[in-house]
Amino acid sequence: MHGQMMQLPLLISSLLTHAERHHGEQLVVSRRVEGDVHRQSFRALAARSRRLANALTTLGVQAGERVATLAWNGHRHMELYYAVSGSGAVLHTLNPRLHPDQLTWIADHAEDQVLFFEASFLPLVQAVAPRVKTIRQYVLMTDRAHMPASTGIPNLLCFEDLLAAQDDHFEWPLLDENTASSLCYTSGTTGNPKGVLYSHRSTVLHTLASVSPDALNLSSRDVVLPVVPMFHVNAWGLPYAACMVGARLVLPGPHLDGKSLHELFEAEGVTVSAGVPTVWQGLLAHVETNDLKFSSMRRTIVGGAACPPAMLRAFQERHGVQVLHAWGMTELSPLGTAGVLKGHQLNLPEDQRLAVQAKQGRAVFGVDMKVVAEDGTELPWNGQASGELMVRGPWIVSQYLKGEGGDPLVDGWFPTGDVASIDADGFMQITDRSKDVIKSGGEWIGSIDLENIAMAHPGVAMAACIAAKHAKWDERPLLIVARKPGATLTREELLGFFEGKIAKWWTPDDVVFVDAIPLGATGKMLKMRLREQYGNHLLQAAGEVT
Ligand code: AMP
Repeated sequence: MHGQMMQLPLLISSLLTHAERHHGEQLVVSRRVEGDVHRQSFRALAARSRRLANALTTLGVQAGERVATLAWNGHRHMELYYAVSGSGAVLHTLNPRLHPDQLTWIADHAEDQVLFFEASFLPLVQAVAPRVKTIRQYVLMTDRAHMPASTGIPNLLCFEDLLAAQDDHFEWPLLDENTASSLCYTSGTTGNPKGVLYSHRSTVLHTLASVSPDALNLSSRDVVLPVVPMFHVNAWGLPYAACMVGARLVLPGPHLDGKSLHELFEAEGVTVSAGVPTVWQGLLAHVETNDLKFSSMRRTIVGGAACPPAMLRAFQERHGVQVLHAWGMTELSPLGTAGVLKGHQLNLPEDQRLAVQAKQGRAVFGVDMKVVAEDGTELPWNGQASGELMVRGPWIVSQYLKGEGGDPLVDGWFPTGDVASIDADGFMQITDRSKDVIKSGGEWIGSIDLENIAMAHPGVAMAACIAAKHAKWDERPLLIVARKPGATLTREELLGFFEGKIAKWWTPDDVVFVDAIPLGATGKMLKMRLREQYGNHLLQAAGEVT
């Protein structure tokens, strides 16, 4: 017997029409590449998105075709989010931090047809355009007054001219909710990047889950500033979430340094922000050097990489900003877990509370997770046993675009490549990555723990811990450290700093000081490169190899 409820598909366009009808006056504030701060209501956002959908039709974009973007966080990018997906095409957000060779490869692989880009990325587009095969139309996301005289890009169109030529009547099609809506490529630290193709259904369900109180906890009273770029897993879904709850959205454009962000937080009364730890390091340094305050910021969402405990303390104890530590992946749309304390944890002594918050958090409803041993057996939730983290749920990838890499699932579960433990309260803690673990004498050593300790040392700007080959123990931890400018930190001082903080046998065997740790396109440390460079360091030091 079937239930007798309406069968309305879950569509991205419904987020926009909801925002227009119920939060029409709410604002999207954008600091633009042109240098101004632009404000428009959700009502105007919806009208411009419909104009843009008409423009896509005149450009000949067909259902299912990929429309690519190279853009910062801003209102025009948001209009593309809704117009492209809402009209039945697929939004492909390209990551401008990638090398032109990689971008060309990805755009060809995705078979992108049209590329919308911002002026900042003109040199990148000029490098890619002569080589990329499928892109037939380029659109510069600006107005006529800011169009450059000559670009070398044939038949370049102007975004605002395109919109001005259309009217704002457009009926969003009633698509099948399983229709593809957007596409992101994984950062590709191993092998070629792979495409993750989201659907309307997966996106709307992910949005519903992510706004809930034990997840990102967003409401119409919030002013949300996603520092996380709209080209990195859809800015963690915040452009959708803001429309769902009617929150004001502040989009920071190209300037993500501490000073620019702090000014925007203060000027716009931002209450919630979201980004990777590297960004917060810059912001905290600026605030502390200049003795500034956060007058409206209440919460910040930290994810993409582990939030160091020192950062948790700085935000919460010195600035009164609550940290929400979250974990996710491109393959998870991205949200998997959020570190919201349970009721009985609120009264824990502060150190214990911080220790819980430093974990990656609990599964949000819709994400099921488990940790498994090498033979695939499930490990107990005791906060100790650590193994590969496996997940499943309706916004988790089932296969990569064009079937690349074969079937990624194991018995219906997606292996994350992260190594984690889960405690009795369901808090997951990443201890390492399966491609990046240190196994010393048959025992795991968590490289992230060692990095967190090193990074808490006042002389350390950045630290990476890698598995170095060792004659006796197979692998031992090796620290690669970039000192803060002016710091004179020595190997002995740094290793002494670990004393008492970890089991003695976890202490790194050596420290290599470098000028800078290599970072990938999404700001993560390129540990694979470090391993290639320093993997034999301990063997060389012991005279085992030359
Ligand atoms: P990406 O698909 O580029 O977002 O990368 C996902 C990967 O980033 C995960 O598999 C983790 O290895 C890492 N990651 C994401 N969030 C966290 C976090 N809060 N703590 C530690 N690692 C994280």
